[in-house]
Amino acid sequence: MGRLALGWLVAVGMTAAPPAAPKPAKFRFSQVEMAVPFELVFYAPDQASANRAAQSAFRQIAQLNTILSDYDPESELRRLCATSGEGRSIPVSDPLWRVLSRAYQVAEWSDGAFDVTVGPMIRIWRRARRLHELPSPEKVDAARQLVGYRLMRLDPEHHGVELKKKGMRLDLGGIAKGFAAEEALRVLRDHGITRAMVHAGGDIALGEPPPDKPGWIVALVSPQPGDPPSGYLCLSRCSVATSGDLEQYTIIEGRRYSHIIDPKTGIGLTDRSLVTVVAPDGMTADALATAISVMGPAKGLKRVERLPGVAARVVRAEQGKPEGKPEGKTEEHLSGRWKELPAAAPALRGG
Ligand code: ADP
Ligand code: MG
Repeated sequence: MGRLALGWLVAVGMTAAPPAAPKPAKFRFSQVEMAVPFELVFYAPDQASANRAAQSAFRQIAQLNTILSDYDPESELRRLCATSGEGRSIPVSDPLWRVLSRAYQVAEWSDGAFDVTVGPMIRIWRRARRLHELPSPEKVDAARQLVGYRLMRLDPEHHGVELKKKGMRLDLGGIAKGFAAEEALRVLRDHGITRAMVHAGGDIALGEPPPDKPGWIVALVSPQPGDPPSGYLCLSRCSVATSGDLEQYTIIEGRRYSHIIDPKTGIGLTDRSLVTVVAPDGMTADALATAISVMGPAKGLKRVERLPGVAARVVRAEQGKPEGKPEGKTEEHLSGRWKELPAAAPALRGG
């Protein structure tokens, strides 16, 4: 589907620095935003301009959180949800419009495997996690009545959004961080800083490479907690997102449930997978990683082949595992384009 390529971070022609310009220094800033540590790494001419750029990038992320947050009852998102079932379309801000339109595209692309209307399901599973108790089938059923991306009507002309059923809740947890990382990169670029990387809890947005380097070294986390990275990529001008139940899961009655939910069943995923997506922009990478987690490698990777500039890798616990077989065996599935990504040797680390 060509429309997904809309947000492509165009590879701009790099202008060589004038011969006398001082060599830019590397700066690193970290701050908790959207409840995860956001890390900025970039090259700037001096400390003062680095501070200024970093501060405005963090300000932008905090500002986006006041729009996109599901936790803040005053966020624009929550105010939009409060109008669900009123039968009217509400005009939304530009960032919210951009996120919801991309979310809708990925929902269509994935046949609803990625669906930001999952809010009511997320709420009952948050409670289940707290109580270590499975939600009742009645509760899951009630939530399912309120979930379905087609219940969210987008009006492109007025940038309006109508939520058709009362009680609908949107949750942007699977797309907002990728968007924020990419927006932070844009703010840095507005400050003249192009050689930059933004990392936000599993979502990475990359600008131009570090000086004299072919790209940024991105470590691929191992599916086995505590193990060294399972590989390294050397990338620039793209985004990388990883989704999975590596960190966020809950064990109830001996079964492990992910924080990613299959919108069709209303149940957290149980197949223990780790999905990494490389895409032209952050929103797409983030949303596709969540989508493919739900779709599974066979369907997910097949569809990825049709998306320009997108590559994906799925690692998951070996399927069809007979009882008693030792834990920890994994199977790896790669999309065609993944195999062409430039790899980096671990010795190159620290770029
Ligand atoms: P992480 O938050 O660990 O980086 P993801 O990007 O995959 O991982 O996002 C998971 C979050 O997305 C969940 O915490 C929830 O807020 C939301 N979510 C869960 N299931 C879905 C789904 N099927 N479609 C869209 N969003 C989802
Ligand atoms: Mg995601």
